[in-house]
Amino acid sequence: MTNREPVVTIQHLNHYYGKGSLKKQILFDINIEVYSGEIVIMTGPSGSGKTTLLSLIGGLRSVQEGSLQFLGRELYRANQKKLVNIRRKIGYIFQAHNLLEFLTARQNVQMAVELNEYVSSQEAIFKSESMLKMVGLGDKVNEYPENLSGGQKQRIAIARALVNHPPLVLADEPTAALDKQSGRDVVELMQHLAKEQGTSILLVTHDNRILDIADRIVEMEDGLLARDSQTAVSTQRN
Ligand code: ADP
Ligand code: MG
Repeated sequence: MTNREPVVTIQHLNHYYGKGSLKKQILFDINIEVYSGEIVIMTGPSGSGKTTLLSLIGGLRSVQEGSLQFLGRELYRANQKKLVNIRRKIGYIFQAHNLLEFLTARQNVQMAVELNEYVSSQEAIFKSESMLKMVGLGDKVNEYPENLSGGQKQRIAIARALVNHPPLVLADEPTAALDKQSGRDVVELMQHLAKEQGTSILLVTHDNRILDIADRIVEMEDGLLARDSQTAVSTQRN
């Protein structure tokens, strides 16, 4: 399934927070490519810049220095309209599931379909229910999040992220709030669906037990991409 077409290409990316004397560099000369269908896991200590990098890739923050391309489109100096279009092609999964509590499982997923493209509500319902079946929640489509377990809620978030078949899914510590078995189930499900749809996944985690689902592991350290299992940098691994 994997071909050598990069979905994300990052070159000499720097990022800073703050202004004037409070300006602080957070990311230092990041260079990385993520290929189509590839599952990349990013690890690294808290505060090393993982979420910042993910939010830049996701078009949720403006690129300040360097080049970041998503499917060949440059995000540096991209206007809001371009960023919005790019965001539509990315599925996001966060640590907290970020579901809307006053919508059912199906409505939470359906919202993502309807935001993304013009479809009849009948079709949006069909797509949402099919996706919920794929994540094993076919019998929960009309439940509200408060009646579901943490693992079930995170599976709704996965359904929502994947329902539009995005070329890229960004997941920021998606298993952090889950017990060991639910965490494992959730990432295996992501892996399965991604391989089926040819989706690339960039997943940030502290959870060593799920590293084996990765095609490639990269490590952030103090704002630097310290290790990449794909390149020569991996010689530093121990
Ligand atoms: P990680 O996800 O690896 O824990 P982050 O990208 O969240 O790292 O944070 C990297 C560094 O940037 C940390 O020192 C953090 O305190 C700082 N930081 C994160 N977000 C902001 C912000 N919005 N404004 C200022 N500093 C921030
Ligand atoms: Mg983070």
